[in-house]
Amino acid sequence: MDLAGGYFLKMMVFPADFDLVGSGEAYGNCGSFFTVGCLNVDAHQGMNLDGVDMEGKAYIERHKQSCHRPLCPTCWPDWDNREKDKAATRLKAFVLKGRSLKPIHLIVSVPEADYGLSVPEMREKVYRALKRVHCLGGMMIYHSKRERKSDGSWYFSPHFHIVGYGWIQDVRKNYLESGYIVKNVGIRKTVEGTIFYQLSHCGISAKHHAVSWFGALSYGKLHVRYDEKEDPMCPICHERLRRLLWIGPGKCSLPEIDGGVFYDDPSNWMEKPRTRWIGED
Ligand SMILES: [Zn+2]
Ligand SMILES: [Zn+2]
Repeated sequence: MDLAGGYFLKMMVFPADFDLVGSGEAYGNCGSFFTVGCLNVDAHQGMNLDGVDMEGKAYIERHKQSCHRPLCPTCWPDWDNREKDKAATRLKAFVLKGRSLKPIHLIVSVPEADYGLSVPEMREKVYRALKRVHCLGGMMIYHSKRERKSDGSWYFSPHFHIVGYGWIQDVRKNYLESGYIVKNVGIRKTVEGTIFYQLSHCGISAKHHAVSWFGALSYGKLHVRYDEKEDPMCPICHERLRRLLWIGPGKCSLPEIDGGVFYDDPSNWMEKPRTRWIGED
């Protein structure tokens, strides 16, 4: 059978057998560096930045190009970081009767009899199991595979990681009634670290979000305002930063440090003709 046919067959038998984070292909420019900055030197006259006299100097930042796609082998950590920050904000926004609670980390395993279900169908059953063990709500991260200890290969073994709240009881009763095993595994050092790690090997599909929220933390029940990302600005004159092109002698020698800040002679640079935002292309 050809490869595409095999894939089709696999998805018919196990529609939830998603690909792992980072297992796709990068774009040509993923991980390459670009420059933004401010050439507005007139407005930099007589200004200081961290004790440096900015007179006649352009403000320069180096950034790594990222597509922010979870399947990209180069850029998935950027996707993971953004998702982790949003999720941590949402988790911390939940209070019960004016009190913050200690987050918990659970694993819910799908029984083999349900391996043929779709992810939304699995989620529904997992949610019911979570209610039975008195989980109040939280985030679900879907893992389609587990790693074989012997050789590090991955095999289809659907389960969900939950970071949320509650005081877990009736685990055994739930298992006997539903066949779904709930394990209370505990948070790593930090909630952020736990979420980042769980997202780093979750199952990815174009049709489903990697993270879903349920119970008291669902979108219908908990309203959270997320910080809007502001347009990057020049810290000296507060103009919007522009994409820059090197027009100085030889090759641009600025080091490739993501977020690196430099000051330079403005005659080495010109604004890239079409204005774009950071990370847009
Ligand atoms: Zn990429
Ligand atoms: Zn400026």
